[in-house]
Formats: sequence, structure tokens, C-alpha cells
Amino acid sequence: MDAEEEASWLDALRLAMPAETVTPFRALGDEARQRAEIAIVANPDPSDIAALPKLAFVHSLWAGVERLVSELGPGAPPIVRLVDPSMGRVMAEAVLAWTHYLQRDMPAYARQQREHRWAPLPYRKPESMIVGLLGLGALGAAAAARLLDAGFRVAGWSRSPKALPGVETFTGDEGLAALLSKSDVVVCLLPLTAATRDLLDARRLAEMKPDAALINFGRGPIVVAADLIRALDEEKLSHAVLDVFDKEPLDQASPFWAHPNVTVLPHITAPTDHATAAAVVASSVRDFRLTGRIPGHVDLTRGY
Ligand code: NDP
Repeated sequence: MDAEEEASWLDALRLAMPAETVTPFRALGDEARQRAEIAIVANPDPSDIAALPKLAFVHSLWAGVERLVSELGPGAPPIVRLVDPSMGRVMAEAVLAWTHYLQRDMPAYARQQREHRWAPLPYRKPESMIVGLLGLGALGAAAAARLLDAGFRVAGWSRSPKALPGVETFTGDEGLAALLSKSDVVVCLLPLTAATRDLLDARRLAEMKPDAALINFGRGPIVVAADLIRALDEEKLSHAVLDVFDKEPLDQASPFWAHPNVTVLPHITAPTDHATAAAVVASSVRDFRLTGRIPGHVDLTRGY
């Protein structure tokens, strides 16, 4: 985090919880380190967390906490991840925007323009398309509501069974195969865990409907990059919109950059808003002060 971003976070957090003392880690003296009760973190050095023995919990400023989970390990204080309803709205907007981008054949028209080619394609109604969401958590549920509102048919896959109005839901291995085989657009909004790493490999991509498109807004390593490139090269899939990658920023040598059927985004679909995120953290801290309750936190065995 650069100095400007750190200053912005400090301002937002201090404004949201004026009764608390919010201090950057490096400004804490030995005595304060012994007393610090809550760590508010982005991607901290694990030894910084270990230097704070009285922590009741670690509150992430990010929604994805796979790095914290793996680096802090099992002995760490409870990890609370950011669940910010305004981030849900921004993510839902992105899912809808890029789904429309595919529905309205924008990649094909961009190619035609480069080739000076005038060739109208048939219009596809949203009602004629199924959007399959992998992950029906805070972000997946928000995206489902927005897609339904825009007229798309929506299916969703989660670890535990879910009932969401208007959404056909699936669980388990067979459920995943069923969702993949019926979706025109598959949107990944899963967390990265031991169970989801490499989930969308050659076998799973082959289960997708011919000519379907993939949007990955979850985490890069959930999709096997080489298998996705092959599926696109062989024209089994029509297009991929990718906001997340194994390594970020995306390697200059990555074939994704120049692939005609790939849209590369620099991890921008749902940026954290400092003011609303600080309000979410403040509400958790206030609740903890009043009740002693640790806010809902990551289940380390599930990894999210
Ligand atoms: P949640 O924890 O609220 O939801 C996760 C969903 O994934 C749940 O529905 C969960 O199932 C499901 N899931 C998890 N593991 C499995 C599995 N093994 N099999 C099937 N389903 C599974 O997370 P959020 O919705 O808040 O965020 C999701 C991810 O989005 C984050 O972890 C982060 O990686 C990514 N993200 C990306 C951003 C970007 O800008 N690109 C911004 C913010 C987040 P169940 O409901 O049964 O628990």
C-alpha cells in the first residue's frame, strides 16, 4: 500500500470509528503492540500479525482472503473478511455489463470493425440465455438479482443448497456438470480454496455448452489457464472475460493478452470503496465492543 492509499484508509477508518485509536502497524510501540485488540489488514506480513499477541480478530479490507488464510495458518486469530453491500452492487453491475457485452456480440463487432466488415448478427434476447453463476454468496446473490431484473435466466452453483427466488440452483459434482452444460455464459464468483483451485480444467470446460462464454471475476487459479486457452483455440468456447489471473499484474508473455477471444481486465470489477468498507469494519468493531462477539469469520477448514 502506498502512502497516499494508507492515508486515505486511515482517514476513512478514523472517521468511521472516532472512539477507537487507529494506528498504522509501524507506528505502534512495544507496549501498544502488546495491547492491540483488532488488526485491520490488506495483505499483511504474517510476522506483523504474530507480533500482536492480544488480537481478538483480524479484519480484512478485501473480500478474498485466500492469501491471509494460507499465510496466517491455523494458529492465527479469527479472520473476518469484508462483506460490503456496496461492493455487491458494484460487482452485480460488472456481471451485468459484461454479460450484456457478450449477449450483444461486442467481441464479434469489434473484430468486424477492425476488418472493415459490415455483418449484422441475429439479436439474442436476454430471456433466451441462461447465465450460470459459480458461487451464490454475497456477490453471486447480488449478481443473480441484477441479471434476473435484466431479463436473463439464471442458474447458480454453491457448496450448500440454496433457495434464491427465480434462480435454478445446483450443488455437488453433478450439479456443476448440469449447470455448465446449460449455461450460455458462466460467471465465476467463487473464493479460491483447496476445493476450487483448478476447478475449471479441461474436463470441466468440455462440459460447457458449445460456444458458451466464461467470465472469471473470482480468482485466477480457479481456471486452468492453459486448458482455457486450448478450449478457446479449438473454438469450443466463444469468449472469455478475465479480471483475475494466476499472477497479477498479468505476465507480459501471457497468451491471454493477444488472444482474439479474450478480454483482459486489470482486476477492476469490484474495487473496494474506502468509505463504505470502513463503515462495515466500524460496525463489526462496534458490535464487538458492545457484545464481545467476534464477527462472522472464515472457516479455516472450508478456506472461506
Ligand atoms: P462468499 O463467501 O459470500 O460466497 C462464496 C460462494 O462460493 C458461496 O455461495 C459458497 O457456497 C460458494 N463456494 C465456495 N466453495 C465452494 C465449493 N467448493 N463448491 C461450490 N461452491 C462453493 O464470497 P463473496 O461472494 O463475497 O466473494 C466471492 C469471491 O469473489 C471472493 O472470495 C473473491 O475471491 C472474489 N472477489 C473478486 C473481486 C474482483 O474485483 N474481481 C472483488 C471481490 C471479491 P455456500 O453458499 O454453500 O457457502
